[in-house]
Amino acid sequence: MRKAFICPTKYVQGENELLNLGYFVKTFGKKALLIADPFALTLVKDKLEETQKKYGVELIGCGDIFKGECSRNVVAKLQEFAKANKCSCTIGLGGGKAIDTSKCVAAGNPLIICPTIAATDAPTSHSAVLYTDDHEFDDYAYFRQSPSVVLIDLNVIANAPARFLVSGMGDALSTYFEARANVRSVSNVNAGLPCGANRKKGTLLGYGTHTAAALAELCYKNLISDGYKAKVACENNAITPAFEKIVETNILLSGLGFESGGLAGAHAMHDGLTVVHDIHLNNFHGEVVAFGTICQLVLENSPEEELYEVLDFCDTVGLPVCLEDLMTDKKTGKAERISLTEEELKAVAAKTCIPDESIHNMPFPVTEEMVIAAIKTADKLGRAYKGLDD
Ligand SMILES: [Zn+2]
Repeated sequence: MRKAFICPTKYVQGENELLNLGYFVKTFGKKALLIADPFALTLVKDKLEETQKKYGVELIGCGDIFKGECSRNVVAKLQEFAKANKCSCTIGLGGGKAIDTSKCVAAGNPLIICPTIAATDAPTSHSAVLYTDDHEFDDYAYFRQSPSVVLIDLNVIANAPARFLVSGMGDALSTYFEARANVRSVSNVNAGLPCGANRKKGTLLGYGTHTAAALAELCYKNLISDGYKAKVACENNAITPAFEKIVETNILLSGLGFESGGLAGAHAMHDGLTVVHDIHLNNFHGEVVAFGTICQLVLENSPEEELYEVLDFCDTVGLPVCLEDLMTDKKTGKAERISLTEEELKAVAAKTCIPDESIHNMPFPVTEEMVIAAIKTADKLGRAYKGLDD
């Protein structure tokens, strides 16, 4: 049986770690192309200046070529710009879009990823999502290797709103259950894909390793033991051992777990649920994935003890446990409605079950009716848990 595992060459996490960015740039050359989220850049400007001076390197900003969207057009322009400026590596600094753009620009060559929030597990992966210039989904891109360095500055993450960290816990929450489903169904995982190919075209595939399954399990254990403590630390901009553990869990363990352990029901439910405008609008990725995880547990008839451990975790850290939570405006704390129409549920289930979706990595055939039943039941269980229907 062909098995595959993929990971970044180096992962470094520490206090004020951005001050060492120049050291890593220097291992590739003197100049690096810096693709940064403009807001994130204002937060770390001083550290970047200091590290350039200390290590004698130059970080070349890309002006207004990167405006916040990761499109083929922007990527091509940035690659030309990097070549003209003789950059020997690429840096992606910020949230999802800057990171994805930097992966596409580097295209498997030296790349340093500096996430400024711990909201998803994307930084460690060898894939990115491309959009059109009009912000529509275009395609997934896979590169021949994962980032050379993933560099985490704990102070930057601790000073970001705690909702990002909690959302990252939602993304990490699904990792163990989805990897477990892939083990049970003996499904192929992303780590096995050849460079540049996608599932449709790829002929070389690979199954998950024992290593990935063990990492995914540790990912879940850490969330249960330290998730709440980490949230409280982050709310107080404090770096504690629990906070450090959860940053590593959200970014490294969850990243390795999903890429080499596989996705299944929870992420497919996320993709389905976000066709509903109110859900797409009011939530971060990990928040929807958390509810998707509860739906997967219902779908696979997970034991009550496990289901309630997950509900308890979500409720404690502030992740959604029902549709009302997902439709709540996070600023006002109010939801205009508490459920989905039958038409919406059908649209959600149809998207969840398209042939390419990871729902088909579950260890049994899944129909649209089963998805609707799981969402309805998960919603009721979540409402009952919170005492909303009393
Ligand atoms: Zn995810």
